[in-house]
Amino acid sequence: MQSGQVRDVVILGSGPAGLTAAIYSARADLEPLVLEGEPSSTSDQPGGQLMLTTEVENFPGFAHGVLGPELMVSMRVQAERFGAEILTERASRVDLESSPIGVWIGDPDVTEPTVRTRTLIVATGARSLMLGLENEARLLGYGVSTCATCDGFFFRDKQIVVVGGGDSALEEALFLTKFGDSVTVVHRRKELRASKIMQDRAFRNEKIKFLWETVVTDVLGDQRVTAVRLRDVNTGNESEIPADGLFVAIGHAPSTELFAGQLEMDEAGYLLSHDGTKTNVPGVFACGDVQDHTYRQAVTAAGSGCMAAIDAERYLSSLREL
Ligand code: NAP
Repeated sequence: MQSGQVRDVVILGSGPAGLTAAIYSARADLEPLVLEGEPSSTSDQPGGQLMLTTEVENFPGFAHGVLGPELMVSMRVQAERFGAEILTERASRVDLESSPIGVWIGDPDVTEPTVRTRTLIVATGARSLMLGLENEARLLGYGVSTCATCDGFFFRDKQIVVVGGGDSALEEALFLTKFGDSVTVVHRRKELRASKIMQDRAFRNEKIKFLWETVVTDVLGDQRVTAVRLRDVNTGNESEIPADGLFVAIGHAPSTELFAGQLEMDEAGYLLSHDGTKTNVPGVFACGDVQDHTYRQAVTAAGSGCMAAIDAERYLSSLREL
């Protein structure tokens, strides 16, 4: 891509929403540019959250399931086949008031944007929440992880703690039983938020045990995690259990910092969209988990990515008619 170009469509994000938007807009001859993000354990995840999962059993069309990363690679290849340009870069700044819209890659303080675009499709998704403990941040990558698929291999015959009570926590716990000697799920309430089918699987698995109404208050270890400090929420009693790994699976937050003050958001930071995928800025469309804290499924993200591409195409047509 040449600096200073004006594009019809720039897509931020490369999960099911961003790549579906890319497939549709590429097939409409709009030659979309996709900034897929930069690989990082704490922020971007090119390919989105499915890159961090194993088996996906509920994406229609795959009767026997498909691996998350495999599905995302297929979507990426499909988008490129129709002419989408995909860069492994992240947008560092956007100016949604300028026309065409300015998008910066790299130094956000340079005056001119790297690329301008008539429409912008925001599909930046959501990322893992953390407990916010000092030692959790220090030991991230040294026993603390947010991704069992990525790191489970390193915990063969080890003692593992998973924190959280939703589907993510149980999915991580079940996957980790392939490696760990024991997997302890620490949950702050006495009921799980996870779906019934996942609960049943976890309860049936002999390697998984649950610590109810308990919170993690610290992660211990000099170079690597050696133990986790816990507090019983009823009695306030503190205890320590030995652990080689702590997998944090307590939900997600939308990646919307880039749009602060420019796009309307709810109190949790999710983008507000209306009439399909329109935002408060004409020509800017939002799709996928960045604007959806209810459904958060690959198939709903892909569906809204399709909608965003169609909305962008119609917006571009309306500009040409002016
Ligand atoms: P989630 O459903 O929001 O669950 C988050 C869990 O973490 C809750 O149990 C919550 O406790 C706990 N939690 C939140 N903050 C905490 C904190 N500071 N300390 C301790 N615990 C904390 O998030 P999710 O599990 O990531 O799932 C998100 C969505 O994706 C859901 O709709 C889920 O069904 C879907 N999903 C589906 C699959 C699948 O079908 N295979 C897999 C993964 C995710 P409380 O319960 O007390 O609030």
